[in-house]
Amino acid sequence: MTANPLDVAWELSPGVALRPEPFGALAYHFGNRRLTFLKRGELAAVVRALAAHPDARGALAEAGVPAEQWPAYAGALRGLASADMIRPRTAPAPVAPGTPAKTAAARGASASLARRFEEGLAAPICLTWELTYACNLSCVHCLSSSGRRDSRELTTAQCEAVIDELQAMQVFYVNIGGGEPTVRPDFWHLLEYAVAHRVGVKFSTNGVRITPERARALAGMDYVDVQVSLDGATAEVNDRVRGAGSYATAIRALDNLAEAGFADAKLSVVMTRENVSQLDAFKAIADARGATLRLTRLRPSGRGADVWDELHPTAGQQRELYEWLLRAGEDVLTGDSFFHLAGYGESLPGLNLCGAGRVVCLIDPVGDVYACPFAIHDTFRAGNVLTDGGFAGVWRGSELFRELREPQTSGACTGCRFFDSCRGGCMAAKFFTGLPLDGPDPECVQGHARDALAAAGRTPPRPSQDHSRRPRSRPVPVRIGRRPSPDVPPARACAESPLAGFVPSPDA
Ligand code: SF4
Ligand code: SF4
Repeated sequence: MTANPLDVAWELSPGVALRPEPFGALAYHFGNRRLTFLKRGELAAVVRALAAHPDARGALAEAGVPAEQWPAYAGALRGLASADMIRPRTAPAPVAPGTPAKTAAARGASASLARRFEEGLAAPICLTWELTYACNLSCVHCLSSSGRRDSRELTTAQCEAVIDELQAMQVFYVNIGGGEPTVRPDFWHLLEYAVAHRVGVKFSTNGVRITPERARALAGMDYVDVQVSLDGATAEVNDRVRGAGSYATAIRALDNLAEAGFADAKLSVVMTRENVSQLDAFKAIADARGATLRLTRLRPSGRGADVWDELHPTAGQQRELYEWLLRAGEDVLTGDSFFHLAGYGESLPGLNLCGAGRVVCLIDPVGDVYACPFAIHDTFRAGNVLTDGGFAGVWRGSELFRELREPQTSGACTGCRFFDSCRGGCMAAKFFTGLPLDGPDPECVQGHARDALAAAGRTPPRPSQDHSRRPRSRPVPVRIGRRPSPDVPPARACAESPLAGFVPSPDA
């Protein structure tokens, strides 16, 4: 754009929603799925006022922005236009506004954005919803110990009520997972229901139901993103962790999506000791299919607790990953899950804080709300959507969430010069390795957790629940050849079919 942004008549782009927040507002573009933070109340007020004025100057005046700050706002408007959050308006402005008045938002003090996030938002940015514990696979590191469905899982009508509430709270999108969410008979209905109610859906799948026909249907839908899980760039590495045949299933799903013209699917990888050396190969798999690579951290949650010692990247591999991520920049997504690597010196893109209960939370298949998808344990259960005033009641009223939104102390990380960026790392990783929550992350790159991890008497808590298909009296095997033979008959029907015993609700 060559014109001065202050001279342009703007409006919000179609498909962009603004959600008021204590720091200003969040803007979400349902078309390109970009999330933008309007970090000051004044800027949010200006953006809201744009459509009512013949140029941006009128909106700035209405929001009470002093004239000497207008050049800075011109830059902000240019940035919003480049992200397609706002567009030049062709139709005339509606009725001229009355006397300029500074809005409440514009009057608000602008504390630092990180501080605002720590205090919690009006609704989560990153809401994960596990629709079922049923899964056709039994990955050794499954964070929710999935396998068998739970007979108390929310019915179709209850799920619809949750979506209605998310729409009312302006939750822009929800990350749907499981288990394998697509094995729920009403999954595709719930997907369409959410989209029709302006709640975008990103769903994670092992690919089992992404047929060519389904891929074509998904390619024709707005507001849907698909994330296919793969934990090895070769079948040998992947299938050791995710089970025999799972590599082929995932690649087929990615191919089906690419051939159907589905734009920008995600290839989702949990980083382990076995696959750090395959980072370039993962990127190549994604690039070849027009997909984006998304890397996440292995946490010792769910069945991951059993294999964490064996599978979490070594110190040398953490460094390798960090340097690779710095080189990749914003081309590779990380879900903000590697901010503990900031202890090497430079922060990676993202919020760089533990968002548990502040900007992140989980609804599990039975409607329990936890502070984070990696913290499925009674300690982090904030309430239930059926009994505690709905999701909004839990998000706004939970005592646990109130505590998590209190200022945190640096505890044993006091004195570490990287605390401002690393923040002591991941709460769930500390909890499930039996380390104090106010101490260093178990993978502290400065080595400050080494002694605590080695200490005798450390007792990591066991998960509060387990939906694994095989009873787990001992750690889940990881190495080739130690998986049970497919010739051995299952101990129970549900070990063969994750849906055994599932009776769809009448409205499914
Ligand atoms: S507990 Fe860990 S995974 Fe969960 S929000 Fe905090 S840092 Fe992220
Ligand atoms: S001591 Fe704490 S703040 Fe410092 S790098 Fe380790 S985990 Fe991060």
